[in-house]
Amino acid sequence: VWVEQDAQAGRAKALIDEYLTTRTTGAPVKCPECAEENPPSFDLCWKCGHDLTAAR
Ligand SMILES: [Zn+2]
Repeated sequence: VWVEQDAQAGRAKALIDEYLTTRTTGAPVKCPECAEENPPSFDLCWKCGHDLTAAR
C-alpha cells in the first residue's frame, strides 16, 4: 500500500513539474471534485484523479 502511495505521489509531482515547465495556453480547468486547478491539457485532476474531460 505504501509503495503504491509513493508511486502516486511521484506521478503527481511529475505532472506538477510538467505543468510548471510547459505552461500550456488556455484557461485552467477547475476540478469539480476538489476544486484544484489543472492545466487545460490534463484529462485527470493531478490532485485527486477526477476525470476532467466532462468539466471542459
Ligand atoms: Zn481534483
